[in-house]
Amino acid sequence: MAYVLENEFYVTEFSLYEVVSARSQMQPALVDGVSGADCRWCSPEILIRNGACRAVRTGHLVDGVTTPGICYSFQPPPDASDRQHICIPIMQSGSVGNVLQIITAEGSSALHSQMLPFINVYLREAAPVLETKRLMETLREANLRDPMTGLSNRRFLEEYVDTLLASIQRHKAHLAILMLDLDYFKMVNDNYGHDAGDSVLKALAKTLRQTVRGSDLVIRYGGEEFLIILQETDAEQGTLVAEKIRAEVEKLKVPLANGTALQKTISIGVADFPEDSPTFWQAVKFADVALYRAKDDGRNRVVRFAPEMWDDKQAY
Ligand code: GH3
Ligand code: MG
Ligand code: MG
Repeated sequence: MAYVLENEFYVTEFSLYEVVSARSQMQPALVDGVSGADCRWCSPEILIRNGACRAVRTGHLVDGVTTPGICYSFQPPPDASDRQHICIPIMQSGSVGNVLQIITAEGSSALHSQMLPFINVYLREAAPVLETKRLMETLREANLRDPMTGLSNRRFLEEYVDTLLASIQRHKAHLAILMLDLDYFKMVNDNYGHDAGDSVLKALAKTLRQTVRGSDLVIRYGGEEFLIILQETDAEQGTLVAEKIRAEVEKLKVPLANGTALQKTISIGVADFPEDSPTFWQAVKFADVALYRAKDDGRNRVVRFAPEMWDDKQAY
């Protein structure tokens, strides 16, 4: 393989969905496993329109050594304009899952004649492994998301929490933790049916997502309980955001199948990590304690956690 190492290899991945949706959804491709990475040798168009890649479009090896200019998307930078390419599609479930791109200096035909058969055999053997990995990732992603609302679920938070805390501690920042619960939600199911209840939850999830920043986490924590983690936000700012959310939910009108619309209110408890507790999960518990105070105080309100709400002897 010494010879091959002198050349450069790039793997551009097109997930099964992306290939299927190349004509419709246009999902971005990955370069060397990284989403949003720059494409070094091809037009960036291939990242958003998979079909711009000849190897993806045709499902056949694209040989720019034997046929220079065969692919209009191969656009080497000016300081390496003598490079040539060979792009090999890796088939997965009948469509192109990945493309291996080999960049080679002009005239190095030894690669072409000697190595290509070995590379082809290798890729054929590797394809099922790559496909299994992709399916596992899809499954894992599905396990971390609530299918009804599209929000992350509690398991996601459990997996992500170490990364989240490492970043917050590095920046010596705060997290505002909001625990939310719809008021008298059971009545919606009882009076209008479970489907109406589901519509309310979906509309609420959308409102929550739209009211916070893209970097904030919105998690469906339980049936009609949501947890929002506002990045680099202290309790004071967090309480303002919570109030904004409360007001948005109060305004929200969810249309029902019978032509009417439903309006609900929400109660929110706010805690600050690490101000209220240096233990993340205890801070989450404190947000919950504040939420229950909001319920007791009459619902449709935001309550900031205070130490006197918590008796030290209680376990969390
Ligand atoms: P409170 O103001 O005290 O929170 O009253 P509540 O009625 O909202 O509280 P409770 O916890 O008694 O009721 C929650 C209800 O949420 C019970 C359950 O049927 C409903 N629920 C939980 N998950 C779902 C869901 O996915 N869809 C629907 N339609 N209802 C759900
Ligand atoms: Mg409720
Ligand atoms: Mg509840």
